[in-house]
Amino acid sequence: MVSGKTINLGVIGWPIAHSLSPAMQTAAIRAAGVDYSYIAMPVRPDALQGAVDGLRSLGFRGFNVTIPHKTAVIGLLDEIDEDARRIGAVNTVVNQDGRLLGRNTDVAGFLLGLSRQGVEARGRRAVILGAGGAARAVLWGLLREGASGVTVAARNVVKAKDALTDFSKDVEIISWDDSIFARALQSADILVNTTPLGMTPNLDAAPPVDWACVRPEAFVYDIIYTPARTRFLREAETRGHRVQSGAAMLVGQGAEAFRLWTGIRPDERAMETALLDALRASAEEE
Ligand code: NAP
Repeated sequence: MVSGKTINLGVIGWPIAHSLSPAMQTAAIRAAGVDYSYIAMPVRPDALQGAVDGLRSLGFRGFNVTIPHKTAVIGLLDEIDEDARRIGAVNTVVNQDGRLLGRNTDVAGFLLGLSRQGVEARGRRAVILGAGGAARAVLWGLLREGASGVTVAARNVVKAKDALTDFSKDVEIISWDDSIFARALQSADILVNTTPLGMTPNLDAAPPVDWACVRPEAFVYDIIYTPARTRFLREAETRGHRVQSGAAMLVGQGAEAFRLWTGIRPDERAMETALLDALRASAEEE
């Protein structure tokens, strides 16, 4: 029950009605048996500063930040950590005695999806498909964990190089239409799709991977979470690859945010069950 002692958490975004975070975080709160509440707050882009100041004044313990505020919020915070700085986006804010600290928990979420399958990035070669916002978190996570080489392959290499210019010393950026793409696939230990190809409702789409080039022992990760098994992952499974879907990353980023706000490691299984229930409910609505 919410009372005067309840500690407030939430998520800001625009639109926000379809956010899955309230379901996941409420499940974590219930499983931990703590007196917190978590709500979704619609915040128009022109109201961001007022909303952030308001949440600080209202003593919210923290909040998640989603589209379209992840970059714009940075200038309104007192401090951001290295993950948020390297990714250029904040998805979690912690209110520490009135000081707002910006974090990015997508890295922790992505890495959870690897560790759950017993995969270590250290010393491994990775190929990332796509060069958007999520690719930055995946790329930084792999570099931070000591991957021995990372190649980013995208449909538009000029745009990809531009988007990842601050990583240009650390990664190779190529067009997936170029013949060197096959070479990159041949040496990959980890292959990650960060494009929306194959996401609901475009279930027949998939990135242009020639599976004959991918070593059987390569680990294949799709960060898409609707559907749970994309065409890309189904093709990988058919060829005997170990795979991971995006639900693990989504749960992992939420679990890390919960830990930062409460100091408690949450029940990730409870969060994942709530996430899958919420996804089923929203699929039935459509
Ligand atoms: P984004 O910033 O728009 O980037 C998308 C990337 O995919 C860009 O490189 C884009 O290339 C490429 N792309 C888009 N449509 C394409 C197409 N039809 N063919 C080839 N390439 C295409 O999006 P994002 O925020 O990175 O999100 C990407 C995906 O990750 C989404 O499916 C999202 O749901 C998922 N995601 C999952 C999690 C999780 O926790 N599991 C977290 C974040 C995102 P151009 O620049 O050429 O358009």
